[in-house]
Amino acid sequence: MSPRAARIGVFGGTFDPVHLGHLVAAVNVRHSLDLDRLLLIVANVPWQKVGGRVVSDAEDRFAMVTAAVEGVDGLEASRLEIDRGGTSYTADTLAAVAADEPGAELFCVVGEDVAGTIGTWERVEEVRRLATLAVVNRPGAPPPTGLDGWRVAQVEIPALAISSTDLRARAADGRPLDYLVPAGAIRCIRDRGLYAETR
Ligand code: ATP
Ligand code: MG
Repeated sequence: MSPRAARIGVFGGTFDPVHLGHLVAAVNVRHSLDLDRLLLIVANVPWQKVGGRVVSDAEDRFAMVTAAVEGVDGLEASRLEIDRGGTSYTADTLAAVAADEPGAELFCVVGEDVAGTIGTWERVEEVRRLATLAVVNRPGAPPPTGLDGWRVAQVEIPALAISSTDLRARAADGRPLDYLVPAGAIRCIRDRGLYAETR
């Protein structure tokens, strides 16, 4: 019998900072879809966010994700987009993962807010061809539309109303991040002096 094709989750994000919403999504998608590996891929230049606000240095965001997944089975922080450099497009990332793992089945993990805007992605047809969309529910996001023609796996997770936007505001005015952000990532924030500039 030939071995089962690897099943790999590609979970892209800015992760500025990474939080329990991301991690609960990651472990539950991995479990529900029986994935061998789930890669949290730190965007180098998130094209949808530049211009609107200052995005933390990619190395700082990668350090936080690395600390957050340490010791968690099957979850990996990925430097793929950072090492590629330039603007981060999921189409290129999926192609790179597919080239690394020939024959693997790929799952592109998104929250419902992102799933609803996927039509705006660069070379979205390539994304649709390369991966099944794994969609997790997210508080405040309407159920996504416009996914006709996609292979979709909806994964129900405990609803956590946590966002990086809110966490940056909390950090900037000194409110606690505890139990919203993993302890290792909080240590990174302290050690690197992140999100404190407006305090
Ligand atoms: P920001 O507020 O800066 O946009 P964010 O909390 O939305 O940050 P991102 O890095 O933008 O985090 O999100 C990466 C991915 O994680 C997206 O697909 C997003 O939908 C998903 N996600 C983020 N937070 C949650 C959450 N609380 N529950 C489910 N999915 C989430
Ligand atoms: Mg977001």
